[in-house]
Amino acid sequence: MHSLRNLLQEAQGNGVAIGHFNISDLVLLKAVFAAARELNVPVLVGLSEGEREFVGVRQIAAFVRSLREEFDFPIFLNADHTHSLAKGVEAAKAGFDSIVFDLSALPIEENVRQTKQAVEALKAINPSVLVEGEIGDIGTGSEIHESSPDVVKGLSTPGEAKHFVESTGVDILAPAVGNTHGMLRSMVQGETKKHLDIERIAGIKRAAQVFITLHGGSGTDDEDLRKAIAAGINIIHINTELRVAWRHGLEHGLSTHPGEVVPYKILPPAVEAVKQVVGSRLRLFKGGRHAAQGA
Ligand SMILES: [Zn+2]
Repeated sequence: MHSLRNLLQEAQGNGVAIGHFNISDLVLLKAVFAAARELNVPVLVGLSEGEREFVGVRQIAAFVRSLREEFDFPIFLNADHTHSLAKGVEAAKAGFDSIVFDLSALPIEENVRQTKQAVEALKAINPSVLVEGEIGDIGTGSEIHESSPDVVKGLSTPGEAKHFVESTGVDILAPAVGNTHGMLRSMVQGETKKHLDIERIAGIKRAAQVFITLHGGSGTDDEDLRKAIAAGINIIHINTELRVAWRHGLEHGLSTHPGEVVPYKILPPAVEAVKQVVGSRLRLFKGGRHAAQGA
């Protein structure tokens, strides 16, 4: 079985990105795993601190490991948006493959200082764990927002990215390149799309020479995602789109089975709805720069 680092290198060489999907229950995990297996592409599942709190840190690690081993399939586990070293240590000890250490709300030099310490502490627990650092402001909350944040204010620069990566030793960088967490209602309805600063991504990639993650991919224009992959994005996070599908699928399951109380008879439409979204995103990420040329 390849390591996550090897798979990222392979994806980078092939000009494709790896999909990262947030999960907080068995419906979401089943849907992500089924879609990835159908397309036969490696996949990352991630849980924020809140999502981990709900599912259980050691419990989800055991679950994902059991899928990886039983099906000999490259599914990896990420501790998304971890705001303290204690929570990072907990995830590293539980066997998570990567940890997003997010102190982007702090002034940059304080972010650098504490992220460097975290990289050292987490790799002392597991030398092969990948640590991702965050810079810039992309807003919080993978949910439906009424108004869009001021994206321009928090954008990352190539110089800042290079300084951060060289000073901290992170394996992966998440910059602010026009992306934001969550979706506007108009995006959920398909009327508007997020757009990315492709030149900025390319500049950051050239300067920082590191794996790059795009957070807040939900609601982003397909063509922008293809161009972002060609410009150097290696991992793309999708959360809100899955949450929207989960809710719609659940409502569908409940309304088509009035009076039903058996969870495994009510929940399959929710699994199917999420699986459709994951599948369509994975097909796009897998196409990478080749799809961009063809489209
Ligand atoms: Zn994120």
